[in-house]
Amino acid sequence: MGKFIFVTGGVLSSLGKGVTSASIGAILESMGYRITLQKLDPYLNVDPGTMNPYQHGEVYVTEDGAETDLDLGHYERFTNAVMTKDNNVTAGKVYFNVISRERKGDYLGATVQVIPHITEEIKTLIKKIAKDKDLIIVEVGGTVGDIEGLPFLEAIRQLSLELGRENAMFIHVTYVPYIKTAGELKTKPTQHSVKELRAIGIQPDAIICRADRDLPRGIKSKIALFSNVKEEAVISAPDLDYIYDLPNKFKEEGLDRLIAERLGLEERNADLSKWKKIVHILRTAERTVEVAVVGKYIELKDAYKSIMEALTHGGIANRVRVNIRWISSENLDTREILKANAILVPGGFGERGIKGKIEALRIGREEGKPTFGICLGMQLMAVEFARNVLGLEGANSTEFDPATPHPIIDLMEDQKNIDKMGGTMRLGAYPCKLVEGSKAREIYGKDLIHERHRHRYEFNNAYREPFEKAGVLFSGLSPDGRLVEIMELKDHPWYIGCQFHPEFKSKPFDPHPLFRSFIESALKWSSK
Ligand code: GLN
Repeated sequence: MGKFIFVTGGVLSSLGKGVTSASIGAILESMGYRITLQKLDPYLNVDPGTMNPYQHGEVYVTEDGAETDLDLGHYERFTNAVMTKDNNVTAGKVYFNVISRERKGDYLGATVQVIPHITEEIKTLIKKIAKDKDLIIVEVGGTVGDIEGLPFLEAIRQLSLELGRENAMFIHVTYVPYIKTAGELKTKPTQHSVKELRAIGIQPDAIICRADRDLPRGIKSKIALFSNVKEEAVISAPDLDYIYDLPNKFKEEGLDRLIAERLGLEERNADLSKWKKIVHILRTAERTVEVAVVGKYIELKDAYKSIMEALTHGGIANRVRVNIRWISSENLDTREILKANAILVPGGFGERGIKGKIEALRIGREEGKPTFGICLGMQLMAVEFARNVLGLEGANSTEFDPATPHPIIDLMEDQKNIDKMGGTMRLGAYPCKLVEGSKAREIYGKDLIHERHRHRYEFNNAYREPFEKAGVLFSGLSPDGRLVEIMELKDHPWYIGCQFHPEFKSKPFDPHPLFRSFIESALKWSSK
């Protein structure tokens, strides 16, 4: 088993602990270590799949079909680690396992308790992902001091003891606010949060300090003193223009050496040239394309995290800046749509905002503007086409109108018999065959792809023929031909909808082909 790095958070949430953990992973990977990451989430949902994006942000889907925390998206974008259902552990999953075992009689005679039964289960689930890895980064969700986080902190404390000093270290991410009126950075919240951590028996080995600026020497030494760590172990993590610059920043701060020294790793250089290159491209891009993203959760950008990142990656591939215009699908401002160089309609659930999305898609189709429909976005492309091109009045998805005369999007038989909501959608990677001569085939440059899904509804095959006659090409199909995975318009420069979520597979140094091509066509539109 490899060595563990436990990342905890203090003071407040939203400090970017996920990106921090991912960047630590990136550095260690660049030193040639086999790494993986795991997120521990203290809430009681078994997974975030049933949560509203407003509660939780995006639900990230792994190749093996787990609905997970969006931090796993950062892990996959920053590293080559492959995330699975085991890389996200929630309190719900832990309790579910323990209680199921209790019902089976596995603990006959015993009182089942948080310590040791819940903590043992947490430790087992952590150790499960450590196989064949040199270094395992385990991020504990929430903030130190939260009641529900306690069993997790207790579990990692116990585990570090079992593993031995050279095999486990703790990194605490905190916030150092700048108080304008005093003109000062304040260390007190960090002091308190480290104190809280030490009260439960965890002495951090490094403190990563989020702030709106770099920490001066004096502040670092103050934090070092109060937290009982060396001054070099106080790492400055200021706001950066680009999150992909964080691995570079951490190296500058000596985090690679610090970890190596603390865990007794051999001395290796962290080669961050690819991260430098990415940041250089982002920083020096001269042109900008404007992409209208039409969604209903736009107040919370985290709901579209992977989409945002994938668009940025598409920009990196074309050496342009991508500026997202967030458009509310509930009160669609058509002028904003017309101003943008391209339109993207992302996935979603429920009827709210459907009308606006359909209208945006109509504009994209009629104007010949690059238009990308993802999951629900593709389904609505089909609905829009049925209504406005085929003249099928009342055409809809049965998700929004179960009695529609034209169920263009509908449930397949297997989905009709499902009575539980959690984890029962079409989830994870499925193969898709691309049709020769299609745009999709040209963009991917191969015949067979695997993309990740998260939906219940599908294109209704009864309508394939009229669609095809009117200019739609179903350019991606499941290998048995039963499921429509991609649709495109023949007489349009770039009008592509996919039933899957390509955004989950895009990386900064490996931009997804669909996003690369989409931004390329947006660029063409902008220079028209
Ligand atoms: N609500 C649609 C379905 O379940 C689309 C889901 C999505 O966009 N992820 O099929």
